Amino acid sequence: MTENAAEPAEMRFDTVEALEAYLAATNQPTNAPGDTQLRMLRHAMQDTPPACRDDERFVADYLTAQHRVELGRICRPCPLRNQCRAYATRARPEAGFWAGQMYDQPTG
Ligand code: SF4
Repeated sequence: MTENAAEPAEMRFDTVEALEAYLAATNQPTNAPGDTQLRMLRHAMQDTPPACRDDERFVADYLTAQHRVELGRICRPCPLRNQCRAYATRARPEAGFWAGQMYDQPTG
């Protein structure tokens, strides 16, 4: 994850569009696919620390099928799942487990 701490920590945005409008208005370009969604996810994680926090399996390059099942069970009830999926769908991170799956495979 890249660090983009440009917006004040106390600011919260209800939608990606609201955050993008703020970034555009304050001349802060988003630099990579999923950057805005990642900022939204980080904000949400500050309010609601997810169960994956501090679990190294969630940032692994490779997971066994068994680990994927286990991590999927952790993600399923996560209140941040929608934000997490929004980031991963857009950024398609090469490593890690996001919102119940790995995104290292190209879409068909
Ligand atoms: S959905 Fe995302 S934030 Fe929630 S536990 Fe899974 S990887 Fe973590």
